[in-house]
Amino acid sequence: MPYLTQLAEVARRTGCPVTEVSGWKSRGHGPQPEVQGIVCHHTAGPAAGGDYPSLAVVRSGRPGLDGPLSQFGLGRSGRIYVVAAGRCWHNAPSTSPLHDNSSSIGIEAENNGSQPWPAVQVDAYKRLCAELCREFGLAASRVKAHREVNTGKPDPHSINMNAFRAAVASLIKGGPAAPAARSWTEDLVNDLPLVGPNTDSYAVKTVRGCLFARGRVPKPLYATVGLEAWLNRTKADAEFVEVLKAFQHAEGLDGDGWCGPATWPHALGLA
Ligand SMILES: [Zn+2]
Repeated sequence: MPYLTQLAEVARRTGCPVTEVSGWKSRGHGPQPEVQGIVCHHTAGPAAGGDYPSLAVVRSGRPGLDGPLSQFGLGRSGRIYVVAAGRCWHNAPSTSPLHDNSSSIGIEAENNGSQPWPAVQVDAYKRLCAELCREFGLAASRVKAHREVNTGKPDPHSINMNAFRAAVASLIKGGPAAPAARSWTEDLVNDLPLVGPNTDSYAVKTVRGCLFARGRVPKPLYATVGLEAWLNRTKADAEFVEVLKAFQHAEGLDGDGWCGPATWPHALGLA
């Protein structure tokens, strides 16, 4: 396979705004050998700083890892940045032979690793994956989170990949491009804060209460300190995160230890 100089055109088919980063058509660690999969990332860049403050890193690399790091960047506004047409260093070592650097395309979405995802950005993420699947003849099952194909990685945080792939599959089939009008449940959970490792806020108490009410807090955890004291802890400590992960697994969710839009409905008993 040569340099993938069609990538900007593929990106435009999403209907999302596209920026071609100067020099992208000849940028890469050699040509891309093949495309068998797509790997979704978050940049872990700054929490603020505009639409795509990680562009320079994704394009040119960081100490110890030469750029380009991914073929695509994805801004907070849903803007797609076409960074490279050749091979990129975005997933090594890979637990999947279909998702290593020589076999897959990387998308680096701007997010600091814990902040909520703007709906417009996630929508563009799905559309870009769907158009790439179409272009390279891939099923939606070939779209993976970095954390699914690399045991040392957490990204992209709090995105339920099964639901994400279902939406991509629908887009590939030409299904509804936009989700149906949001239900009151979705409106509610989108207003709720993201709770995960080291969060220290009143919302942590709410999640503790939900998990307890759903019978998901093993008694030994609060036997010593007492239930009230356990429920009143505002810190999402390691023990709490493990309880949350176990709950997510039991509910068929990604066990990422973050209570966000995918997990809140289950915690509240609305799913
Ligand atoms: Zn990653």
